[in-house]
Amino acid sequence: MTAAPVLRVDDLHVSFTTPGGRVDAVNGVSFEIAAGRTLGIVGESGSGKSVTAASIMGLSAAAGGAVTGSIEVAGTQVLGADEAVLRSLRGREMAMVFQDPMSALNPYYTVGSQIAEAYAVHHPSASKRERREAAMSLMEKVGIPNPGRRIDEYPHQFSGGMRQRIVIAIALANNPKLLIADEPTTALDVTVQAQILDLMRSLQDEYGSAIVLITHDLGVVAEMADDVVVMYAGRVVERATCDDLFATPTHPYTLGLMGAVRSLDDGQRGQLRTVRGTPPSLIDLPAGCAFRPRCDFALGADEACGASVPGLRRVGDLPTLSACHLPDTTLLELGARRSA
Ligand code: SF4
Repeated sequence: MTAAPVLRVDDLHVSFTTPGGRVDAVNGVSFEIAAGRTLGIVGESGSGKSVTAASIMGLSAAAGGAVTGSIEVAGTQVLGADEAVLRSLRGREMAMVFQDPMSALNPYYTVGSQIAEAYAVHHPSASKRERREAAMSLMEKVGIPNPGRRIDEYPHQFSGGMRQRIVIAIALANNPKLLIADEPTTALDVTVQAQILDLMRSLQDEYGSAIVLITHDLGVVAEMADDVVVMYAGRVVERATCDDLFATPTHPYTLGLMGAVRSLDDGQRGQLRTVRGTPPSLIDLPAGCAFRPRCDFALGADEACGASVPGLRRVGDLPTLSACHLPDTTLLELGARRSA
């Protein structure tokens, strides 16, 4: 029997009105994730992945976005929910870990008091002593040495990696069913990155949480994710299991991102190669497929690629969904050629 999804996103649209015009940041995005699974959402900046994450937490509307579609977390509808419902969802059902731990922590309070405060939101009757003990045990769980001593220290007294562990402790304070991690290791050096990813994996084993991992780095996806959504210019362009994505990538944009991974394999981590060209302005998207100006396989402007936005469809016998006008045989050939 398949477990009910912890998160179900259906036909999500998020747009913002800016002085330059309307920005469709997320355009018809759908996916779901079950308990204990990790879904990687990958794409360059401006692809809509972080706006998708913020929308799940109920933050996009608060930031002035017009949001439509459906987002259900543990069976509760997030879109249109009032602040009281969102508050009860945040922490207990879902929590978020951001890229920059310093901006998520208050520099004027000890780390212990910040973890204890997060715990108290959903344990209002816990005594001061119980909150402090809970904070200490969470610090221990996320691998902070000497929690008894360090609990009364301030964020600036910790390294970047230790600060991210504290943010993870805050996120896990109420054992949420869904953890959303937005570029959680981008600001950290490679060794600490690996430690934080290990920590997230072992905590997931213990807590059984579903994780949505937002990243621009396919290397992180390869290490962590069960399923992957590749986003470009606000749309999902490929959706696959992690194994299928790396065995047979089908979308030309995914293939471009794989080039970046190959350069990591070559030991050039500091010089991450990206897809040629730059992401388009969301205010002024090209006609047809938004990836067309950067695509090595685009058909002529007057043909399908320039004429209409490709929808997601199954590719051959694979369960993979891909949004490209090229015939299945060509997409499968491209994937096979890449993995050869
Ligand atoms: Fe490239 Fe055309 Fe496919 Fe878009 S639809 S990815 S332009 S081949």
